[in-house]
Amino acid sequence: MGLCIHCGQKAGFLRRAHRACRTAHREGLERMEALARKAASTGQFNAEALRQSLASVAERSFANEDHITAAIERGWERAVAESLADGVLTQSEERRLRGFRDQLALAPSTGEGAAARLESAAEDRLREDAAAVAIATEDGEHSLDALADVLDQSALSSERRRALLAEAWEEAVAAVLEDGVVSLDEEAALVGYLRRFGLSAEDVNAAGGHTQMVKGAVIREAAEGLVPERAQFDGRPPFNLMKSEQLVWIMQDVDYHEVVTRRERRGTSHGLSIRVAKGLYYRPGMFRSHMREWEETVHVDSGLLGITSKHIYFQGRRKRFRIRYDRIVSFEPYDDGFGVMRDAQTAKPQSFRTGDGWFAYNLVVNLAQQW
Ligand SMILES: [Zn+2]
Repeated sequence: MGLCIHCGQKAGFLRRAHRACRTAHREGLERMEALARKAASTGQFNAEALRQSLASVAERSFANEDHITAAIERGWERAVAESLADGVLTQSEERRLRGFRDQLALAPSTGEGAAARLESAAEDRLREDAAAVAIATEDGEHSLDALADVLDQSALSSERRRALLAEAWEEAVAAVLEDGVVSLDEEAALVGYLRRFGLSAEDVNAAGGHTQMVKGAVIREAAEGLVPERAQFDGRPPFNLMKSEQLVWIMQDVDYHEVVTRRERRGTSHGLSIRVAKGLYYRPGMFRSHMREWEETVHVDSGLLGITSKHIYFQGRRKRFRIRYDRIVSFEPYDDGFGVMRDAQTAKPQSFRTGDGWFAYNLVVNLAQQW
């Protein structure tokens, strides 16, 4: 005769538990988990009172201290999952969930998956908030103060905070450029943010964000009819600029391509001839040879590309030339560069692979308009 694992009374031949006891146990565990989940997600609880309620449920359902701990952990994990279900972890949700974990003194290893999701959702929210502040053109000082406060209250280490601020800034730049140029106000906000949090240009250039901001500003100025003066080049630029010509930008390691025409004779050039009297006769079919012609883009040289207020300069090892903007009849945008067509009859397309077609194309097109 076996004894019931729950109540300890006789359970019958080969039985491990009474059906009623098993049901009571299972329902008790569910009830405890539900109590914990509700407390974690509403934040309306008192740790001592909650523990007492759980203990009394446990008593009626043959549950021990381990069952209670497990119910609290699962309840918390479920509360985390519910809070994240809509994809957003609000600040108050985060506060409640963290508060529950602290007050119930859950072990650090508790619900590691849920804890990790909570941390990453919390960081996502902070990053989004920070990105919005980075380009807040109104009330900027106030937004910066508020962001600094939120970060101070966060559980992040100071290192992690800096990294998050930098990432958010680069994301903000990308978002701004996605729908246009960097406006003067946005640039001021972006720069103000860096100053406020002591971030250098280098800190926020991991994904090229700082360079992109400067480029965005350069395009804005060129589009406004100004000649941007933000070129950075160590030493003297190797171009012989004209008087009153200003260097706007220099790009290195630019591949220069030209379109060349290739020709080839195809078909039978010699074939069987038939002797006719003293001469030779070639049948019509032998005159099918023809000239085939096609155009090919070939890499000609690599080197420096200088963009000035008047010209595009190229300086490679073999080729050096400049093209005046007013000699260009069309510009072609490529994702990794741009092409130009000069107005000469014999001109062939020339293209420059700069790596950043968006910037180079916008820049030359706008500067050309100022000619
Ligand atoms: Zn029993």
